[in-house]
Amino acid sequence: MSAQTLRIRPMTTFKLDHVAVAVSDIDEAVDNFEKKLGLDCERVEVVPTEKAKVAFFDVGGAHVELVASTEPDSSIARSIAKRGEGLHHICLEVEDIEAALALARAAGIRLVNESPVPGAGGTRVAFLHPKSLNGVLIELVEKGPGRADQHADK
Ligand code: ZN
Repeated sequence: MSAQTLRIRPMTTFKLDHVAVAVSDIDEAVDNFEKKLGLDCERVEVVPTEKAKVAFFDVGGAHVELVASTEPDSSIARSIAKRGEGLHHICLEVEDIEAALALARAAGIRLVNESPVPGAGGTRVAFLHPKSLNGVLIELVEKGPGRADQHADK
């Protein structure tokens, strides 16, 4: 891998993992998405590193994630206070999150997490700052060691 690379692809491949929606009340929001969209909630989980409670819905391979704050000083709480509920981040799966972060740094992207932190479902995640990406918060995720699935490069 060249340290001179100025962008993440094609050194790392991306696969859309989920799109996240910030919500005030996770139970109410899960109920709302189930009733109105007819989606089935796969799982609800607390993510201590994010001070958040998340719920996942499968939508054709990718997921919709609802994210609610568990503590008043979380980034989700701040986001909702500032912008209200709504789209919060896009999550892209990468095979090697350290490599992707190194490439992101080399590309001049501001990192929210300098190194990966534990994410939902035993994954490792890191966020790229929206100031570097046209206002979009991007989460990178590396799935656990059991990641046997090979992704077709899109
Ligand atoms: Zn997420």
